[in-house]
Amino acid sequence: MEEPLPRFRARAREVLEGTAELQSEEDWRELLCGDCPFYHHGEEENEECGSYLLLRALLERGGLDLERALDSLER
Ligand code: SF4
Repeated sequence: MEEPLPRFRARAREVLEGTAELQSEEDWRELLCGDCPFYHHGEEENEECGSYLLLRALLERGGLDLERALDSLER
């Protein structure tokens, strides 16, 4: 069976290992938009869907733990 959200999982691993950051808008796009069929790199700097906003707010405020999210997807 194909693993879900491969780009999210790869980027989350990099963030958790310390080889990637979640500082810039581009960092967040790489994490949250990479698996989205609507994502076209560099074309949506000013547009954010509700899922993006929700996940970013939860991760920034500690309401969602990145490591636990990754673990859940890899079970
Ligand atoms: S902001 Fe939302 S719709 Fe746009 S690329 Fe990211 S996840 Fe997809």
